[in-house]
Amino acid sequence: MSVLVTGGAGYIGSHTVAELVAAGESVVVVDNLQTGHRGAVLEAFNVPFYNCDIRDTKQLVTIMNDHAVDTVIHFAADSLVGESVTNPLKYYDDNVAATGKLLQAMVEAGVLRIVFSSTAAVYGKPSRVPISEADAKQPENPYGETKLAIERMFHWTHRAHGLSSISLRYFNAAGAHGSLPIGEDHRPESHLIPIILQVALGQRPHIQVFGDDYETPDGTCIRDYIHVMDLASAHRLAVRYLREHDAGVNAFNLGNGNGFSVNEVIEVARTVTGHPIPAQVAPRRAGDPPQLIADSSQAQQVLGWTPVRRDLATIISDAWKWHSSHPNGYDDSTR
Ligand code: UDP
Repeated sequence: MSVLVTGGAGYIGSHTVAELVAAGESVVVVDNLQTGHRGAVLEAFNVPFYNCDIRDTKQLVTIMNDHAVDTVIHFAADSLVGESVTNPLKYYDDNVAATGKLLQAMVEAGVLRIVFSSTAAVYGKPSRVPISEADAKQPENPYGETKLAIERMFHWTHRAHGLSSISLRYFNAAGAHGSLPIGEDHRPESHLIPIILQVALGQRPHIQVFGDDYETPDGTCIRDYIHVMDLASAHRLAVRYLREHDAGVNAFNLGNGNGFSVNEVIEVARTVTGHPIPAQVAPRRAGDPPQLIADSSQAQQVLGWTPVRRDLATIISDAWKWHSSHPNGYDDSTR
């Protein structure tokens, strides 16, 4: 019995592979390395790796049969909000159409459990915080729209084929493994914490604070930063839940329940790194809601999930270990 992880060479995917392996699961990774890194699937994990596109139904069916796969965790996707606005069809193709092909392969191979990497972006601009799963879903960009379309797909594939699913809606994933040499490496990088740490490393002159006139206590945007290893443990528990229950179609928020402002994140990063990290206020970034905070009580109750690295200093300190030891990210020359 093994778990197939699509996008296992990506940021959250590789940390989930580490978590599964540590828990004694047998894991197979499929990644086309469009944005993933071969180095993120460490030799130390000793897991089979296939450089394969999830649209390749034939190869996927073979992989699922060869490795006795019983559950899929599906990360493989495009995930840049800005790019999704300028190139929406790429997102419909790489996210929606490609997931359709993956589900086709699963049905063909008789693999009827999937844990899906979804996002808080399915909610769009929330009418209240903390956000619960039943709140309105009005994505404000094609990234969130395509993730929601995939969640909807699960209703129909459950009805037609009995495929059970858990969609995990992440808030702001951050941090790094802490002891294994894996971490965040997006190219281009757009996320707050890695960019702040690039400033600490002297790779950028300052951090731009996108707007300080929001209706929040210090005027900067508030987000719910959740440690990537806490996300990873939720995936492990979701696999277990699907195996033990006739689960149907489920969706859970994953956040740490605490909001931190951009200014607070910068301040904690100054303390953790010991670097001054100059900041400059810049115009608001289009589409940024003032506050995003998760109500994750459902995941806690149903999956038995407890985030244990909730402290922002821990999250930033683990990220700093990775960035300071790998200032240029993964070495992709071995691709
Ligand atoms: N942000 C910022 N400067 C940056 C990058 C991000 O002020 O260089 C802000 C952004 O406006 C948002 C928060 O940091 O309020 C988190 O942004 P990120 O892109 O990390 O995640 P998102 O919330 O967009 O998923």
